[in-house]
Amino acid sequence: MMKRVYNFYPGPATLPLGALETAQKELLDYKGTGMSIMELSHRSKQYAEIHEKASSLVKELMGLPDDYSVLWLQGGASTQFYMVPVNLGIQGKKMEYVHTGVWSKKAIKEAKFYGDVEIVASSEDQNFSYIPKDIVFSDKAAYAHITGNNTIYGTEFFNWPMTHTSVPLVCDMSSNIMDKVIDPKKFGVIYAGAQKNIGPAGVTLVIVREDLLQRVSENTPTMQKWKIHAEKDSLFNTCPVWAIYMCKLCLEHLQSIGGVSAIEKANRQKAKMLYDVIDGSNGFYQGHARPDSRSLMNVTFNLPTPELEAACVKEATEHDLIGLKGHRSVGGMRASIYNAMTLEGVQKLAEFLTTFKEENE
Ligand SMILES: *Cc1c(COP(=O)(O)O)cnc(C)c1O
Repeated sequence: MMKRVYNFYPGPATLPLGALETAQKELLDYKGTGMSIMELSHRSKQYAEIHEKASSLVKELMGLPDDYSVLWLQGGASTQFYMVPVNLGIQGKKMEYVHTGVWSKKAIKEAKFYGDVEIVASSEDQNFSYIPKDIVFSDKAAYAHITGNNTIYGTEFFNWPMTHTSVPLVCDMSSNIMDKVIDPKKFGVIYAGAQKNIGPAGVTLVIVREDLLQRVSENTPTMQKWKIHAEKDSLFNTCPVWAIYMCKLCLEHLQSIGGVSAIEKANRQKAKMLYDVIDGSNGFYQGHARPDSRSLMNVTFNLPTPELEAACVKEATEHDLIGLKGHRSVGGMRASIYNAMTLEGVQKLAEFLTTFKEENE
């Protein structure tokens, strides 16, 4: 008999069961072609439909205005760490970053290869347990960069910092893309590795306001230019056909359950269930993130001792609650409850944590 566990891994992460089942059904013979989608040309009519649908679902679900391009690229969000300065950097202007954890640190490191980076706000002083407030970007910056959600620390942006109209706001939304309704017009660029909230590893979604495509210097290698990928509709070279196909199935699933506003409601309910257990535990569970910065996607917490943390992870695993060990830089436990994690799964975890506390405090 097939077994499915409750998968709380931070990424790659759990996917909607319905999407996996469709993929399974279509695996050997995609719609009467006698071939798997993995074996079909990226220039075929069948694939073209998938490609177009995946992009139009992104536009529809996020409510993107017409002047935004949707790109499907390879190399993960980590490749965008340098693609951002390559495409948006302006000679003599600073690139401004908010430093909220390990991912922003990596983004900053890559940007420094291309020019001057200014860190305008940071939460490093308190082990990245909060999102800085009153962030001010200069009106002279080339662009302003934030990390929408910090998987390791369990913090998330809910209020977007303002930027001058000439300074595009760039957001790494790898771990919170489509977790809540946003106003895309606030952003010049949004990028996200697919493997947390919208699909499998192997493809990165990049959303760019079209006027920004013109900034890149002609003297840039072709594959590094968003402009080329936009002109070629992400088909300049062989695109990751399978990964985009899976994203399409996951986005169709999201659409079928009511889109981003419906998933936001569920996400808030899911996160609240776990934060309520933490807050009601008389200090047995200690949340890492400050309550005003708590992520809807990654709930991070500690127990009184490392031994209890290890025991809790082990016992959870025996209950088919998988992937709860925290990242080494904060320790403790982390429940990643991305869009595809069900209410039922979070309920099971909340019940387990309540019982574990009663038995071990
Ligand atoms: C997971 C994650 C990344 C890493 O993405 P890759 O696709 O593995 O390069 C980058 N940024 C954020 C915010 C993440 O959560």
